[in-house]
Amino acid sequence: MNPPPQSTDAQSPAGLGLEFVDFAKRYGARYALRGISLSIAPGECVALVGPNGSGKTTLLKAAALLVRPTKGCVHFTPASVNGAGDNSAAKRHIGFVSHSTLLYDDLTAEENLVLFARLYGLDSPEGRARAALDPAGLAARRQDLVRNFSRGMRQRLAIARALLAGPKLLLLDEPSTGLDRAGQQWLAAALANLTGAGCTVLMSTHGAGEANALVTRAIRLLAGSIAEDSAISGDPRAMLAAALAAHQEA
Ligand code: ADP
Repeated sequence: MNPPPQSTDAQSPAGLGLEFVDFAKRYGARYALRGISLSIAPGECVALVGPNGSGKTTLLKAAALLVRPTKGCVHFTPASVNGAGDNSAAKRHIGFVSHSTLLYDDLTAEENLVLFARLYGLDSPEGRARAALDPAGLAARRQDLVRNFSRGMRQRLAIARALLAGPKLLLLDEPSTGLDRAGQQWLAAALANLTGAGCTVLMSTHGAGEANALVTRAIRLLAGSIAEDSAISGDPRAMLAAALAAHQEA
């Protein structure tokens, strides 16, 4: 869990930039990521594509500061958020929707959000939680235990939680998973709002889902390395289409 925030810096930009410097992560003898050098500017909306096992989740976790590098480092811009060399000041600006939704099953939807808002030291946690549940389509189920939620409802709640603190960098691991059409439209609208306000978005995707319409850059991973980056060459739309075709063939 991320640390509680300090006071908000009104002068700081709306989005965080992100930089991987010769980053590697090895599990046992196997490299999940290797030689990753990558700069993402504030306000970019970047899709990560690639086959299963190519390193997408590991890269997202590394960006969320949840993976200790074997080599290299991750840091953020502006430099002021990197704190005393441990990136701790950046953490409060990062929202993360992981593959496992990491919700508390024995709490209600509302209690999950209130708990998170309190951990983040946000003002009026109850009000914020309710305000977040309505656009997520969960207002009518706010007092239900999360253990009784469908996969799509859990996903909506996990996304709502990641949005709660007003992230400057939003990381999403296959965010369309389990979402129906309405859920995907809500996610796309939420991401459009965030990117419109300057928030940086990095998400893994199989190429399907309404949120992909917002993508301005695509990065393809293969066996833990960057095989293609549309910022260098290639077209993000074509890369998303190729990822979708490969996924449907698999
Ligand atoms: P993707 O998200 O593209 O499917 P991952 O980042 O989940 O890929 O995995 C990349 C590689 O790292 C895979 O070979 C996977 O088995 C390995 N890996 C990921 N997490 C762990 C872990 N905690 N322990 C051991 N191996 C891992």
